[in-house]
This record gives sequence, structure tokens and C-alpha cells, in this order.
Amino acid sequence: MEKLKILTYPDPFLKQKAQQVTKFDDSLKELAQAMAAAMYDNTGIGLAAPQVGHGLRLFVADVDFHGEDSGPKNPIAYCNPVIKNGQGRGMNEEGCLSVPEYRAEVERFERLTLEYQDLDGNQHSLEAEGLLAICIQHETDHLEGKLFIDYLPPLKRKMVQNRLKKLAREA
Ligand SMILES: [Zn+2]
Repeated sequence: MEKLKILTYPDPFLKQKAQQVTKFDDSLKELAQAMAAAMYDNTGIGLAAPQVGHGLRLFVADVDFHGEDSGPKNPIAYCNPVIKNGQGRGMNEEGCLSVPEYRAEVERFERLTLEYQDLDGNQHSLEAEGLLAICIQHETDHLEGKLFIDYLPPLKRKMVQNRLKKLAREA
């Protein structure tokens, strides 16, 4: 598969709700592999299919990755993720490959259960906390057409959106 291009705000595709994965075939595996490559290339820990122009309920994540010297890569693909049983609330700084040059504190569940399917369609249930729990909530939001900046207070959100639109025009 060709290198994937990461869409950035205000690309309207990022606002679309993604569709269930129903075909667990080779092209799905190729997409997940290309997404993992794009994630590592851009030093991200998670990437959702809508961010690369595919309207599928799929994301990849590797929260142990922090750049070149991270050691063995272990990307995991999550299909049709459903968050259950969120517990605790905490504020954490987040960034996003689709929101360049900006980070902000967002409130998220501290612990959750994730039900998802792997690339072969097998069902899994995962208990997550810490960075993985945050990453899962951030990426699952992408499948609903939601970005982390949507959680900002309205005035701040508007400011950030205007700055990002200006960045996009200049690109
Ligand atoms: Zn993101």
C-alpha cells in the first residue's frame, strides 16, 4: 500500500462518523499496516482510519512508542471498538496528528473496558488504564467525527480553530 497522508483540521472528512468494519480481509490488514507505518513516521501513539481518509471503525495504537529509541514496535489494531464501564475522571494533556502544533488538557476516564475485534474479526475484551485508556478514548472519538479540541471551552476552541485554519491555508 502507498504511504498514507494524514488529514488535518479543518478537513471535513475528520467530522464524519465512521462505518463498522464488516470485511476482515487482506485489504483491512494492509490498511492497518500502512496506518501503523504512518503513525510511527509521525511519532504518534495512535491513529484512526478517518485520519487517513478511510471511514472505517478502526484504529491502531502503540502507547510504548516514543521515537527512534523505543525498542521493538508493537502496534495493535482495534476494529469496531466499544468503550464500556468508564471509571474515574482525570485531566491529561493530549495532542493529535490531525491537529498540528497544538496540545491541550482534556478530561477523560482513567479506567475502562474496551470491547473490540482484531483484524481477523475475533472478539476481545481489554481492561485499560493510564495512557492506553486515554489513547483509546481519543481514537474512538475520531470514529465519531470528534477531535480533542472539541472539548475545549467555546472561546478557546474558536481561537484554536482559527489558528489551525490559518496554518492550513499557509501550508
Ligand atoms: Zn487524534
